[in-house]
Amino acid sequence: MNIVHRLAGIASVSSVLFFQTSMAAPYTMPVYSSAAEVNADCDRMMNDLKDAQAKLEGMTSTSGVALLAQLDAIYRRYEDTDGPMSLLTAVHPDKTIRDATEACDIRYQAFNAAFLQSPKVFELLRQVQPADDIDRQFLKYTIDAFTDAGAALPADKQKRAQDINNEISRLSQEFERVLREEKTQVAFTEAELMGVPPNVWRDAKRDGEGRYLLGLAYPISGPVIENAVNPKSRERMWRALYSRGGSVNLKTLAELAELRREYAALFGFDSYADFAERRHMAETAANVQKFLATVKDAVTKREEADLALLRGFKARELKQSVTATKIERWDLNYYKEMARKAKFSVDEEQFRQYFPPDASVKFVLRLATKLFGVDFVPSQELLWHADARAFEVVDLTTRKPLAMLYVDLYPREDKYSHAAMWGFHAPSTLVGRLPAGALVANLDRKGLTIEELKTLLHEFGHALHQVLSKTRYASQGGTNVQIDFVEAPSQMLEDWIYDPKVIALFKEVCATCKSVPTALLTRADKARHFAKGIDVSAQHFYASYDLALYGHEPQEPLKLWASMAAATPLGWVEGSKFPASFSHIASAYAAGYYSYLWSLVVAEDLRTAFEGKKLSSEVGHRYRDTVLANGGQVAPTELLRQFLGRPTDSKAFFKSLNK
Ligand SMILES: [Zn+2]
Repeated sequence: MNIVHRLAGIASVSSVLFFQTSMAAPYTMPVYSSAAEVNADCDRMMNDLKDAQAKLEGMTSTSGVALLAQLDAIYRRYEDTDGPMSLLTAVHPDKTIRDATEACDIRYQAFNAAFLQSPKVFELLRQVQPADDIDRQFLKYTIDAFTDAGAALPADKQKRAQDINNEISRLSQEFERVLREEKTQVAFTEAELMGVPPNVWRDAKRDGEGRYLLGLAYPISGPVIENAVNPKSRERMWRALYSRGGSVNLKTLAELAELRREYAALFGFDSYADFAERRHMAETAANVQKFLATVKDAVTKREEADLALLRGFKARELKQSVTATKIERWDLNYYKEMARKAKFSVDEEQFRQYFPPDASVKFVLRLATKLFGVDFVPSQELLWHADARAFEVVDLTTRKPLAMLYVDLYPREDKYSHAAMWGFHAPSTLVGRLPAGALVANLDRKGLTIEELKTLLHEFGHALHQVLSKTRYASQGGTNVQIDFVEAPSQMLEDWIYDPKVIALFKEVCATCKSVPTALLTRADKARHFAKGIDVSAQHFYASYDLALYGHEPQEPLKLWASMAAATPLGWVEGSKFPASFSHIASAYAAGYYSYLWSLVVAEDLRTAFEGKKLSSEVGHRYRDTVLANGGQVAPTELLRQFLGRPTDSKAFFKSLNK
């Protein structure tokens, strides 16, 4: 997942700020010790933004280039303060600070919703004659942002658009806050945890009856669902996990869906999906539907076969007939694991001994060094928590600073519970500004499974997109790209870990680490294609649900989920509330969840250039200079053409579905 920052627009807060062409200096993270400090910073930002807007609206004429630069300076001013705050909302241990950073974002969003309707600025924008393709791309992006904020709407509709935007900001924060501050624990006796690796539960707190109290963080809930022999234990953990958010979040999601529907209607669209998709690579909701249908056709038979195989395993274990056996949702990972072990002798848990978390981080950094020619120098910056670490990213050859990278890897109370990258400070070559990003995850301190190593590499892929970008405008820097393209660079890297030459880099960064046996890695490589029918169908289902929720008919989130789930082979589980924790579609991926499958088409195509040369610095540098460096300032199809030397296509993706 990638946490996006979207356009704000404007420019210079003061001419001092704007004309500053400082030597490119790396970013420094602000440290807040009280909510009052956050509020004071926020006040300064708001004042600067309002001043800048007034100055801009006072302009009588402008050369186009100056206007674009001014707009970008306003974006940078916003990012300077609200960028790190959006990260701190997700990771800061102090609730008063988290609440203050959230409140600041609400203030900014309100400013932005109004600013993007400024008739004066919109008028100036429409007079701009772009000087080159980069300016043309930025101008189009900016006019689209003003248009989508309601700059061309009649006054009454403009007001409503602002109100809706503000309400959406507030509700999506609320949705995420409920999940972050979730405190549910599930109690298990030792016997009920049979099959679950002791390192998952041994040190957990106990209740009055001596039962282990297990929270829902992924390093805990994942292994329980995957390994507990007792189906009741799997079911209890699964139900707790998929009840997160509860009726509170279901209500919030319903409101979000209704507000987005109303918002799209202001612009004459009868679905939010139609409104949103026109700014994406996919262009229309109908194109997305068509794409999803093709994917579904390609995997349906395979899903049936996968499930039949799992039913066979369950029937044998329970000594009953296959026809009398049904795979429940909480059975899925358990029998997938069992089948994987039986067919390929691969056990996810057995990888933890080879992938200690610290070494795993050094491994992904080393991979970037080999491929892209960058080095990561640990920095002693004071950060929000002792677990968080900072690295200065420097060019391997010139040693010039390129960016700052922050990592915060382990679960703790009140921390963001998934894995994501915050690209919170974008570069701008106009003013010598260097990018910064933060990788947030919830890893197991005792070591990673190969799946978790893949997740780490995925988020690191977003981080590289952020820190290796070098764009003229910050608004288009790093991962500020179209949502159905943004996952591609990170998905591309995911399969690097199955290459023995790549995994051998562990030895370079950790002399005491045990090497993964090559035979095990080869088996894991084969095993990863196992159950692809089930996995791709699940992604297809999430994407279809998202599109339906934001489609033509108004929908009640849980009712829609129940009816769509009932039509899948695994059925609907009465009482579960999956949509209540489906963060993606509450926020930036609304009507955009399909992006994961869509980007995978691009990712598979990108991989073709690295075929048999996953450590090639020649291909790596070409990739860095085209795809990564350009962020959103060049359209994805053009970037892909430049990098691949041909138009992109979906051949590799459909081939991989059959692997
Ligand atoms: Zn991602």
